[in-house]
This record gives sequence, C-alpha cells and structure tokens, in this order.
Amino acid sequence: MHILLVGAGLSCAVIGRTLAEAGHRITIMEARDHVAGNCHTVRDADTGVMVHVYGPHIFHTDDEEVWDYVNRYETFLPYKNRVKTTSKGQVFSLPVNLHTINQFYGKTLRPDEARAFIEEQADTSITDPQTFEEQALRFVGPDLYEAFFKGYTIKQWGMSPRDLPASILKRLPVRFNYDDNYFFHRFQGMPENGYTAMVERILDHPAITVHLNTAFTRAQADDYDHVFYSGPLDGFFDYELGRLGYRTLDFERFTYEGDYQGCAVMNYGEEDVPFTRITEHKHFAPWEEHEGSVCYREFSRACGPDDIPYYPIRQVKEKALLAEYEALVEKVGNVTFVGRLGTYRYLDMDVTIREALDVARAYLGKAGAGEAVGA
Ligand SMILES: Cc1cc2nc3c(=O)[nH]c(=O)nc-3n(C[C@H](O)[C@H](O)[C@H](O)COP(=O)(O)OP(=O)(O)OC[C@H]3O[C@@H](n4cnc5c(N)ncnc54)[C@H](O)[C@@H]3O)c2cc1C
Repeated sequence: MHILLVGAGLSCAVIGRTLAEAGHRITIMEARDHVAGNCHTVRDADTGVMVHVYGPHIFHTDDEEVWDYVNRYETFLPYKNRVKTTSKGQVFSLPVNLHTINQFYGKTLRPDEARAFIEEQADTSITDPQTFEEQALRFVGPDLYEAFFKGYTIKQWGMSPRDLPASILKRLPVRFNYDDNYFFHRFQGMPENGYTAMVERILDHPAITVHLNTAFTRAQADDYDHVFYSGPLDGFFDYELGRLGYRTLDFERFTYEGDYQGCAVMNYGEEDVPFTRITEHKHFAPWEEHEGSVCYREFSRACGPDDIPYYPIRQVKEKALLAEYEALVEKVGNVTFVGRLGTYRYLDMDVTIREALDVARAYLGKAGAGEAVGA
C-alpha cells in the first residue's frame, strides 16, 4: 500500500516506521521545516544549549514497551523533574509536599501531623465539590489554594477555577513526604541528543520519504490507499463547523551568562505576574556544561487562527463541537485521525507512542484481513 502520513511528529513517525517495516510505502507531509512536531529540539549555536523549541518536554512512562521503543532510537539519560515556584516573595518546592507545607506555615510537622493539620485547613463544609475551586478548598484550604493553585490556573486556562470542573484536581494534590519528583512514573529521562535526533532515526527507513515545508490539503487524500492525519481535526474540514478551542503559548526567549535561576522550571503562581513560568533549558540536560543559558518566559492565552494550538480546552462547548466533527469523520473514508491534534486531546509523549503503535498494528491487522480501517 502507498500510505500518506500528515505530520512528522511522534504519532506519524511511529506509525510510519511500523508500517514501513511491514512492507508498506510511506510518504510524510510536514508543514514545518523540521520533524519531531512539538517535541522538536535544537542545539543553540551561541550557547550550545539543547533548546526545546515548543516548550520543555520530559519523558516519563510506566509503559515498558514504549520505554524500550524510545531507547532503541536514542540514549535516554536519567532526569527527574523537580519544579520550584515563586510565591509571596519566597521560593517553594512543587508539587506541594511536606517541605512546602512546613516552609509555608513555618512549621516542622511530620507526615501524620501535616495530614491532620491540612485537614484542619480544609473546608469540610464542601461535601460534593463541583468546581476546581471547591475541590482545592476541600482538600487543602484557602491558604495553599491561593498561593499555589489559584493564580497559576487562572493564567494557564484564562478562566476562574470556579468555572473549571473539579475533575481537573481529582486526587489530593499534596504529598505528606519530601518527595519532590514531579512524576510518579517508573521510567523517566531525557534524550541525550534531543527528541529531533530520535525522531530522525525513527524515520530513517528506505520505505519512508519525508517532505518538509509541505502542507497537506484534504483533496490529496484520494491519491493514497490510506491516510493517517495528525494535523488539527477542525483544520482537516477547513473549520467548516467552527474552531475547536485551544490555549496557545507565547515564549519570550532570553539568554543569560551563567546560571539564571538554578533549576529547569520556576513557576510563578501569582496572578499579577503575567507569565506562568520560566524554563532554563540547560538544566534539562544536567550532564552537559554550558557557560551561557537559554531561558523561556512562558505566557498562556486564547489561541487565535494564526497561533499554534497547544492545549485543547475540552469544556462543554468544545466537546459539543468535537462531537459534530466526529460525525463528519465517519464519512471521510480512507483517513484515520491520530495524535494530539487529530483527536483533540492532550497526550503525553508516551501515550502518543502507545496509541501510534496500537493504531498501526490495528491497521496492519485490518488491512491484511481486507477489512475497512476506521477513522
Ligand atoms: C507545551 C507542551 C509541553 C509538553 N510537555 C510534555 C512533556 O513534558 N512530556 C510529555 O510526555 N509530553 C509533553 N507534551 C506533549 C507532546 O508534545 C505530545 O505528546 C506530542 O507532541 C504529540 O505528538 P503528535 O505527533 O501527536 O503531534 P505534534 O507533535 O503536534 O505533531 C503534529 C505535526 O503535524 C504537522 N501538521 C499539522 N497540520 C499539518 C498539515 N495540514 N500538513 C502537514 N503537516 C501538518 C505539525 O506541523 C506537527 O509537526 C507537551 C505538549 C505541550 C503542548
């Protein structure tokens, strides 16, 4: 089969490799001038720092097959994400943990004491939290909510936590020990030579041809036996039903001679600081040494037609529109919608790779049996 893949991010790279190894001919169209999609990394010519162009990406997973997969194409070096936050003139450790609680309240509580103390702060009159705010007040009380959750959430989503569902903060968002590793996953690391080098290797197969700076349009689907599309779902239909809501990010890049902030990620939880965080990219590769530094000040705002869509909003209105697009998808025929934009979901890289492997294998099974392949 001659198969077209739209986008050269992780989704289509993994699908393309799997199908190429099974004997299919793969053409990839990528609108940008590079592969790797939003995981794209570039070594900065002046400082030598590996820069995460579309925002920092940390690899973490419990999926052993996915971990083995990425390690086949790139060496992953140990990396633990330890985030700090500046709030009320002090620097605290995130996620909120025993160190944060003790520092914030000027105490020396042990785990059991901290648990009881936070329960005293919690608003127990809220028995069935419906909103993000109610959930936070129920779990941690007003002080920690104001310092660590409220302002950041308002800036990130452009919405009051009163208008966001409780489900965003489902579990107890504090830890009663000193574990400040942001992720719980068994496998965590960073690619030694960046994500783009890894994706280039995944795509390095004689049956795969990549066309950069080449935007796909719907009419081209007819020229191929099948299409896997990882572009925006609404974009495929020329936005005929309207635009699915996204948040976009503006990165204000600056350089610094030396160590700007001493850590990779510094959040700014207060609402009157316009940016959400500053990331200092050399700290994402702690095994490297660089004199100079590249930092991104990160601002979140509503995504306009010419902006890069980053985070799907997926509120009631967006889900209704998504359902309308899903109805159109069923009528398309030879196209399967994949990845974070094609399915309008936030997907971590490991989930993206898992889904790409699964969808490629499902395709091979169905196409081999002469069955129709779903959208
Ligand atoms: C700010 C941010 C931070 C993140 N941090 C992490 C993290 O720390 N850890 C983690 O695991 N995950 C992280 N992710 C998630 C990660 O970026 C995704 O899992 C991954 O990018 C999904 O890959 P994809 O191939 O589905 O989509 P993308 O990477 O978006 O690739 C899609 C590609 O399709 C191309 N394209 C779109 N339309 C067309 C068209 N019409 N014609 C041709 N090409 C087209 C685009 O140019 C793009 O290159 C983060 C995401 C964001 C937004």
